[in-house]
Amino acid sequence: MLSVGVNGYGTIGKRVADAVVAQPDMELVGVAKTRPNYEAGRAVKNGYPLYAAIEERAEKFDAADIDLAGLVEELVEEADVMVDATPSGIGAENKSLYEEHDTPALYQGGEDADLVDTSFNARANFADAAGADHVRVVSCNTTGLSRLVAPLEEEYGIEKVRATLVRRGGDPAQTDRGPINDILPNPRTIPSHHGPDVQTIFPDLAIDTLGLKVPATLMHTHSINVSLNGDATADEVRELLESQSRTFVIPEHLDIDGAGKLKEFALDAGRPRGDLWENCIWGESISVEGDDLYLFQAIHQESDVVPENVDAIRAVAETADADESIETTNDALGMGL
Ligand code: NAD
Repeated sequence: MLSVGVNGYGTIGKRVADAVVAQPDMELVGVAKTRPNYEAGRAVKNGYPLYAAIEERAEKFDAADIDLAGLVEELVEEADVMVDATPSGIGAENKSLYEEHDTPALYQGGEDADLVDTSFNARANFADAAGADHVRVVSCNTTGLSRLVAPLEEEYGIEKVRATLVRRGGDPAQTDRGPINDILPNPRTIPSHHGPDVQTIFPDLAIDTLGLKVPATLMHTHSINVSLNGDATADEVRELLESQSRTFVIPEHLDIDGAGKLKEFALDAGRPRGDLWENCIWGESISVEGDDLYLFQAIHQESDVVPENVDAIRAVAETADADESIETTNDALGMGL
């Protein structure tokens, strides 16, 4: 059994913790939090040992009557692998903590790529993380783009990817984010930083990305154009994407017209928190004009990186290869819609 600790128990951390608990070969040894908010209370109710991430704040947990198992240093010592899911930039500050205890660590997409030995996407470069000490699971958008690029590159070869990312303004619980009544080119410079981030997984890929932010919280939506090297038909591409375990081609008859119905669909399916771990690609959007493939996909920013974190744990611990790990993760979570 792999002992896993999670430092930073927010949107991503709590989902990764639950996913670790669901795995047959992993044990969650604890989670670390900075403050005794509603998520801390739930962690304890779930039976997850709760550690204080900041020693000086430990007394706040006592005052809130929330039991602590100890300080984060003890959690790092006990874990075989730590998953750092703290806000952007804090992971970099925590790196020395993991090094002091000789515990390999995963970081999230908000950290710089040069913090780590390798950036990670299970479908594209699982083996690069074998035995690494510091691995970055790329962001939600980069994960969504990588899952699309990998099979297309293998099957046809790619001349160039052009993607416009219509990004949610904030997650549902991020009451301080926006815009609330605007459409923002964001970043205003072109190309956006997302393309170079995808190149941390596919160094030779030609890709330009543009970003916007809109008043929505549910999901991101990508408008994609891939210029392919090989001949392809829309039906062939659809079949290829349907054969991938983490790309869900939305059948037309479901009559799902946007993120709202997608989330409702996930809730109806009994998905925890209404999570959609897969890229959600509209079947009717998959089109080929000459050498150009076009499609729309929705990406659930809060959850698509969760199975990737689980796979990255096995990759650094070298307990499975990509296919074994992806299959185990998918089965344990209940992937497939
Ligand atoms: P979040 O704010 O929801 O959760 C972060 C948690 O870490 C919070 O509970 C916060 O209190 C805690 N924290 C703050 N400082 C800490 C410290 N020093 N030690 C331990 N815990 C600390 O953030 P999030 O959305 O889960 O993002 C975490 C990381 O995941 C970021 O790198 C982000 O870029 C990345 N990410 C976020 C999303 C998303 O859409 N939410 C998607 C993919 C990747």
